[in-house]
Amino acid sequence: MWYYNRKTEIGETYGTVKQKILKYGEMREGGVLKVDSFLNHQIDVALMQEIGKEFARLFADAGVNKILTIEASGIGIACITAQYFGNVPVVFAKKSEAKNLDSDVYSTTVHSYTKGKDFTVRVSKKYLSAEDKVLILDDFLANGEAALGLMKIVKASGAETVGVGICIEKAFQKGGDLIRATGVPLHSLAIVDVQRDGSIKFTEK
Ligand code: 5GP
Repeated sequence: MWYYNRKTEIGETYGTVKQKILKYGEMREGGVLKVDSFLNHQIDVALMQEIGKEFARLFADAGVNKILTIEASGIGIACITAQYFGNVPVVFAKKSEAKNLDSDVYSTTVHSYTKGKDFTVRVSKKYLSAEDKVLILDDFLANGEAALGLMKIVKASGAETVGVGICIEKAFQKGGDLIRATGVPLHSLAIVDVQRDGSIKFTEK
């Protein structure tokens, strides 16, 4: 493929999520992993393409016909991944009560771990229906608030969550276990843990 040797905007050849975390990830106080140089602020598009291809491979047999995520960081991941599912529509849950958002919405309250506050997320009833087989995607999985909130919204619409795909799961927070306990297939491209000296290691679940 042409992009294997392509230089990315951050000046290096494409790598995996795990390689990028080891090279650029910074573990902060409270177990917050900063990945601003390739995922959350500057975006490494070649890496995003690999992420999209990998989710498409992992959920190939799930019958996905819609991707659901949450603004803002999930949107890029979802849009690139959608291309590998034959351009299925992407819907993102909105965090703000926009004047132009229909009043007819599915909504739930989610607690943000990184911001330390609750917010309401909303999806217009127009964009989810009982025929939908939904793949939920997000950048991080910490306590599972965002992903479980999105699953609630899918359920309320009568649609089915056929999978949850996460770029970076944090093993030391409970979200992964909570989602696995629901029986919905969860695939995380990297599961990070912290070693005693504070450095990052990867684990499997
Ligand atoms: P959860 O809802 O699973 O508790 O947290 C997931 C959400 O919080 C993600 O959408 C992500 O935006 C944010 N988040 C949680 N932990 C981290 C982290 O360590 N680093 C970053 N950059 N975002 C995080």
